[in-house]
Amino acid sequence: MFGFLGRKKAKKNEPVIRARPDHCISRKNIDRDALRVLYRLNDLGYTAYLVGGGVRDLLLGRKPKDFDVGTSAKPDEVKRAFRNCFLIGRRFRLAHLRFGRKIIETATFRQNSQTVGEIIEHAAEGPFEDNTFGTPETDAYRRDFTVNGLFYNIRDFSVIDWVGGLKDLEKRVIRSIGDPMIRFREDPVRMMRAIKFASRLDFKIEKDTAKAMHKLHSMILSASAPRVCEEVFRLFPYGKSAEAFRMMWEYGLMGDLLPELAEFIKKDGGLKSRTWKYLAMLDRYEIAMAKQGYDVPNGLRAAVLYAAWAHDEPGNSREIMGTMLRSLKIPKATYFLAVLMIDSVKRLSRPPEKSRLRFLHNRDFPDALDFNRIVVRAEGRSEKILDQWQDLYNEEMSKET
Ligand code: ATP
Ligand code: MG
Repeated sequence: MFGFLGRKKAKKNEPVIRARPDHCISRKNIDRDALRVLYRLNDLGYTAYLVGGGVRDLLLGRKPKDFDVGTSAKPDEVKRAFRNCFLIGRRFRLAHLRFGRKIIETATFRQNSQTVGEIIEHAAEGPFEDNTFGTPETDAYRRDFTVNGLFYNIRDFSVIDWVGGLKDLEKRVIRSIGDPMIRFREDPVRMMRAIKFASRLDFKIEKDTAKAMHKLHSMILSASAPRVCEEVFRLFPYGKSAEAFRMMWEYGLMGDLLPELAEFIKKDGGLKSRTWKYLAMLDRYEIAMAKQGYDVPNGLRAAVLYAAWAHDEPGNSREIMGTMLRSLKIPKATYFLAVLMIDSVKRLSRPPEKSRLRFLHNRDFPDALDFNRIVVRAEGRSEKILDQWQDLYNEEMSKET
């Protein structure tokens, strides 16, 4: 009997380490400048990891949007090591290393779950450093989801996993690090991030994480408006907006943030609402535009989100988009562009008349034309009239050059 006692004792927490031959991350796929930062910190004797979404995306064979570095070096030590270093934030200073227009964000390992957004918001509160610095372990645990808590160690090219992220990447699940009821109360925006990652990566939200979202969704109303607004528009660019907004609707987050739209969708058949068709067509457009390096304007995206409703109430564009303006505090420019998109439907549904071509010279005309194609395709109608507008537009433009 005695023999078994000691063995059951919990071992000191140790990470899972996956050595170079056992994972697919190759330095070829890591940004040159990020590598430079990692090597330099490592050469100076600091711990230096690639962290967060970059590691996740590399392990999935996707191209990361940005490369963030985590290090044992303190902000002033990072500053001393790089001439192109700018420290931002006061409460917890972050180092931005600039390489042309690119920024490699370099953060000292920390303890708490303060986010970059919060750091900037609290920047005015005081110049003290807090006792927020931590270890790689605490830095892993303060992150939002297990798949976002992985580290790539430049010293031996291994992947370090404190939080079960490798397993969850294989199972393709978004799982809160720690108790989701606590983590979502701490920062309700994480619920939107769960939806963003699940839709973008085609992952499932793990059961307890999903349950907490169903319970806590209305806490999103206590998050700061600009952060929420930013996260809403980050549901679009990966061509998965139909899935993302369907999840927003199902989890109740849309009902909190965009109550009038949620109400419309409910009346329009819920999961059968035409809204999803419009968004699905937008998604194809987003993917095509991303390939050309064109950023779709948020006003066009917003207009597609409301296209089914606008279709039912022609002439009511200001009122309809006004609900989004008020509840989400979207920028005025986004609101005006969305209104213009919706109002263009009537004009572009008739063949162009030679005498009334001013609209062709509006700088938003190309976006309006694209918006109309999305609408017409989603409704399964003919694009003949839009082609006429397109031809005339091309003609006019060739005159100008
Ligand atoms: P993306 O590809 O959209 O940039 P990402 O995972 O890199 O996805 P970021 O918003 O760039 O997400 O944040 C970088 C990392 O910081 C995340 O991977 C996560 O580890 C951590 N993080 C970001 N926001 C939060 C948050 N609200 N709570 C806890 N950790 C966060
Ligand atoms: Mg990122």
